[in-house]
Amino acid sequence: MHLFLRHHGIGGIGIIRMSGKDTFTILEKIFKPKNKQEISKIKGYTIKYGNIIENGEIIDEVLVSYFKAPKSYTTENMCEINSHGGNIIVRKILDICLKNGADLAKPGEFTQRAFFNGRIDLLQAESVIDVIHAKSERETKTGMKQLKGVLSKQIAQIKQEILDVMVHIEVAIDYPEYDVDEVTNQQISDMLENVEEKLEKLEKSFDNGKMIKEGIKTVIIGKPNAGKSSLLNAILKEERAIVTQYEGTTRDTIEELVTINGIPLKLIDTAGIRQAKDEVEKIGIAKTKEIAQEADLIIAIFDSTKELTKEDIEILELIKSRKSIILLNKIDLESTLQADDKRLKEVSNHIIKISALNYVGIEELYKEITKLFQLNEINIDNEIIITNIRHKNLITKAIENVKSAKKAIEEKMPIDIVAISIKDTLEDLGNITGEIIDENIINEIFAKFCLGK
Ligand code: GDP
Repeated sequence: MHLFLRHHGIGGIGIIRMSGKDTFTILEKIFKPKNKQEISKIKGYTIKYGNIIENGEIIDEVLVSYFKAPKSYTTENMCEINSHGGNIIVRKILDICLKNGADLAKPGEFTQRAFFNGRIDLLQAESVIDVIHAKSERETKTGMKQLKGVLSKQIAQIKQEILDVMVHIEVAIDYPEYDVDEVTNQQISDMLENVEEKLEKLEKSFDNGKMIKEGIKTVIIGKPNAGKSSLLNAILKEERAIVTQYEGTTRDTIEELVTINGIPLKLIDTAGIRQAKDEVEKIGIAKTKEIAQEADLIIAIFDSTKELTKEDIEILELIKSRKSIILLNKIDLESTLQADDKRLKEVSNHIIKISALNYVGIEELYKEITKLFQLNEINIDNEIIITNIRHKNLITKAIENVKSAKKAIEEKMPIDIVAISIKDTLEDLGNITGEIIDENIINEIFAKFCLGK
């Protein structure tokens, strides 16, 4: 029996959530529905209006939602008391619940119960945290997909394939008198190859997932006066931009997470382009190179009213073979530098004419980024994406074990040696969905939750 206090601070409503078999027994003691209905007879998925009473005194007018086992978030009996907001009243109702037999829930305990009671697997539980902490629409989307069990199904499918391999192996172990070696080995190898491919696809998706989760690490480079700060301002001023500032990982930088059209960009503001103009002048090409090293995307901005200089050429060198977009700025003025300039085209197919000062071409820039990172809807909706480093590490481990199994076959090792690696693979995948319960990992995961979830 656990309950929880929802809103800290003043809000329109406060929610207290209870879960456990005694939920309704406790509720009976503290809640009087207006229509005097017996609480145990109230149906699940209904909401009742009434009062919270203590020693005959009305404490608050509330709405109570009923969820009857097993049809609830935790699969247990549950209720949610919607009271007036404000610390005092919520605290008071919480105390009344505690006095009548409830305990305080730990952070994440509701979701943990949903997991232990088998309603969701560990992957789904983790996606609840992702959805809550999502910083962009896309991140919410991948989290919701995972919550619906898309990734769990994919893992289950791969596991089934591995189990099929195991069946082949068991046959070979149990009936050594049949000389099935050559055929079986080939079959097992093929099946493992298939499994490996699928796992590798998942592993690769992590890079995309990481970008969705943390933002595309983007750096704007260009020589002084090209228009870097104007561009940054144009992006940050965008009405739909949600901006969060971070201390940059590179010395002297500020990182700003901007989400536009659902695309999260983590802009590295080199030495505060916007804040300290003089500083920028001091940032030499060496420093720019260092910053550009760790970027997922380089936006190189050139002044289109000027011919390319030696510095510009150095910048072009720098972005060669990197994911980059070239911007020709100041197109409101007469241009000297053209978009079909060979020196530019050699380096990038993504050349856009803009006027940072007049917000021209900014929308096109976003479209180009979406294209470049294939962040379009189709991709997100159809692909299964890993966003969690724990999952990624386990998948990497599983791939290693599949590789060892394949190697053992190639080296004509006894089949039971092959079987060990395959069983390890199964275990790695089981750890992802939480079938194999490691108490430390479970505790660590649920500790990241907030109270009441
Ligand atoms: P930074 O040194 O690369 O950060 O360049 P700034 O953004 O400070 O721009 C340098 C100068 O160019 C400033 O005077 C800006 O007002 C001007 N500028 C920037 N973008 C444009 C543009 O699109 N059109 C025009 N006409 N001027 C621009």
